Amino acid sequence: MAEKTIMLSDGRAPPPAIPARLDAPTGLLADALGRPLHDLRISVTDRCNFRCVYCMPKEVFDKDYAYLPHASLLSFEEITRVASLFVAHGVEKLRLTGGEPLLRKNLERLVGMLSALRTPGGKALDITLTTNGSLLAKKAQSLKDAGLNRVTVSLDALDDATFKRMNDVDFAVADVLAGIDAAHAAGLGPIKVNMVVKAGMNDQEIVPMARHFKGSPYILRFIEYMDVGASNGWNLAEVIPSAEVARRISAEMPLLPLQANYNGETAARWRYADGGGEIGLISSVTQAFCKDCSRARLSTEGKLFTCLFATRGHDLRALLRDGRSDAEISAAIGALWQVRADRYSETRTMNTSGKERPEKRVEMSYIGG
Ligand code: SF4
Repeated sequence: MAEKTIMLSDGRAPPPAIPARLDAPTGLLADALGRPLHDLRISVTDRCNFRCVYCMPKEVFDKDYAYLPHASLLSFEEITRVASLFVAHGVEKLRLTGGEPLLRKNLERLVGMLSALRTPGGKALDITLTTNGSLLAKKAQSLKDAGLNRVTVSLDALDDATFKRMNDVDFAVADVLAGIDAAHAAGLGPIKVNMVVKAGMNDQEIVPMARHFKGSPYILRFIEYMDVGASNGWNLAEVIPSAEVARRISAEMPLLPLQANYNGETAARWRYADGGGEIGLISSVTQAFCKDCSRARLSTEGKLFTCLFATRGHDLRALLRDGRSDAEISAAIGALWQVRADRYSETRTMNTSGKERPEKRVEMSYIGG
């Protein structure tokens, strides 16, 4: 049973210390395990119009739920300023998340501001967005025009009854598929479609989803159900291992392994033997990929998390609103990354085997997936 009292944000997050020496960013930052800082995920809202049972279950996120007040959210100017400091440290990819990011008003304006940033070498950034697809049909073209490169769309089933049971707000599959097609028509590709697989909930949809997207321009990715946050009552028995997903698909549509596109890619790539395109398997539970994890996360209210499963963030907003200089904030970010040693998924078994889950983790709807 999900717990009713959950931690939306990390109220205790202290502002990071400003190092005495303000070293200029080199673009070559590495953490304590030698991992570079390459991706920044920016959550722009803690709200969502779905109530997916694994992310924002209705019994917790009900009408009395206290979302963050608008003044707590980082403004577009604050987000862009922080993002530019991360870019100077080596970040080349920005992903907008939520909640549902398309619920943030005038998001196109933020996309436009972020797309004007350049790496120290003068390269444009890869700007992507993860969405539930519900508003995509309406927004795809304006997002593309603003400078968005790609979208990733979450879709957990093709069967309407199953999908509606999962999103818990009666949203139809056809409307998400229309959003995906609109994004494709607008040029927001290659589009990835993410399916979180939960045993007994939607695992019967694995093969129909594979069949549907085989031969399409879209890359379907299967994600092992994860223990993010504290509200979804996660249980290891509800995880369908990626190997089982591959086995079920291969039985009907044989698969062959593919090389990773780049170091640190979260999805293992497989292609259909008959040339019908590729799928991805994200094995965050059974085959952790912490060793190449180059992702930082900025929460809706400006806290920096160095791991999806972190229990504490670092309050960059306090520095921004305290009049700190770019050099000071940049040095603080650099110092935080240099001591980062997170590798939660690699140590999950120990943490979830009994009563040892020491602290409550922040919710995925707050930190971004
Ligand atoms: S558990 Fe943390 S360190 Fe490991 S891959 Fe996920 S976000 Fe990265």
